[in-house]
Amino acid sequence: VILPRFELKQPTTVREACEILKNSENVKIIAGGTDLLVNLKKKVINADVLVSLAKIEKLKKVTFTQRNGISIGPLVTIDEVSSSPVITKNYPVLSIAAGKLGSPQIRNRATIGGNICTARPAGDTIGPLIACEAVVEISSAKGDRKAPIETIFKGPGQTTVAKDEILTGISMKKLAENTGCSYIKYMIRNAMEIALVSVTALVAIENGTCRSARIVLGAVGPTFIRCKATEEFLTGKKITAAIAEKAGQYAGEICTPITDTRASADYRRRLVEILAKRAISEAYSSVSITK
Ligand SMILES: Cc1cc2nc3c(=O)[nH]c(=O)nc-3n(C[C@H](O)[C@H](O)[C@H](O)COP(=O)(O)OP(=O)(O)OC[C@H]3O[C@@H](n4cnc5c(N)ncnc54)[C@H](O)[C@@H]3O)c2cc1C
Repeated sequence: VILPRFELKQPTTVREACEILKNSENVKIIAGGTDLLVNLKKKVINADVLVSLAKIEKLKKVTFTQRNGISIGPLVTIDEVSSSPVITKNYPVLSIAAGKLGSPQIRNRATIGGNICTARPAGDTIGPLIACEAVVEISSAKGDRKAPIETIFKGPGQTTVAKDEILTGISMKKLAENTGCSYIKYMIRNAMEIALVSVTALVAIENGTCRSARIVLGAVGPTFIRCKATEEFLTGKKITAAIAEKAGQYAGEICTPITDTRASADYRRRLVEILAKRAISEAYSSVSITK
């Protein structure tokens, strides 16, 4: 399949990119192109102008300080997210999830900003970013704004990032001491598949009990689901197998999966119960129980 014709613009600053977006008709942003080019070829979308972000060096940086936490540029590739020492050490759940996205070839091109803006309910980095309470920075010719990542998803493939806006940064505070994590991506085969169900669990432990928890489900609703009732249930408790099982049941109750060719809604709901229990137990046991 041949790509349709388009004009490629390659600005070197965010400001320049914003001006092009403001002044062009039928324009789209391209980052790694792993999603966009496939959709252009399939004619699912069309564009007369593509604005590549590849030459904006500022958008490729990762910076971390103990005080302010991390800032990740949207053009940082999924491969870098999975292998960056600073992300692996401080936000291991994000690097684990990134390492499960696609294949090495895809991870080398795909970007974290593209994964967010594609807004698939199965996007691998989104659950961990919501669990880590990431904030995204968004720029346009009108100015800059920030939003908790949890609030930008409107439905499958839809975000509040407008056509003339660029996602320009992702920031996260440092996680609490003794936070254990788990990311489970359930697939029918073991590679090159989007999640049938994903569960992200973060559990902060103090004196052997759960001080706070964040549980996020992927691929079982139009957007990611943060399980607040499950999080509240876990808080203040020692996480035994029975508690993790009950928490898994709560997670199963709030998901809204669909039936399609890959699995029935009932099967997906049952998976959520089992995988949430497993993720919570894994997150808890990844932190020493003496802490
Ligand atoms: C074979 C294959 C396997 C895949 N497997 C997985 C998988 O296992 N898990 C998974 O989550 N995804 C998977 N994907 C989907 C895709 O690779 C990811 O979503 C990827 O992270 C998209 O990033 P990108 O840089 O390539 O985005 P692009 O294709 O460049 O862009 C995607 C969309 O986001 C917009 N966009 C990109 N960057 C910005 C920005 N900074 N600001 C505003 N809008 C922006 C674009 O306009 C476009 O609409 C797969 C894709 C393929 C082809």
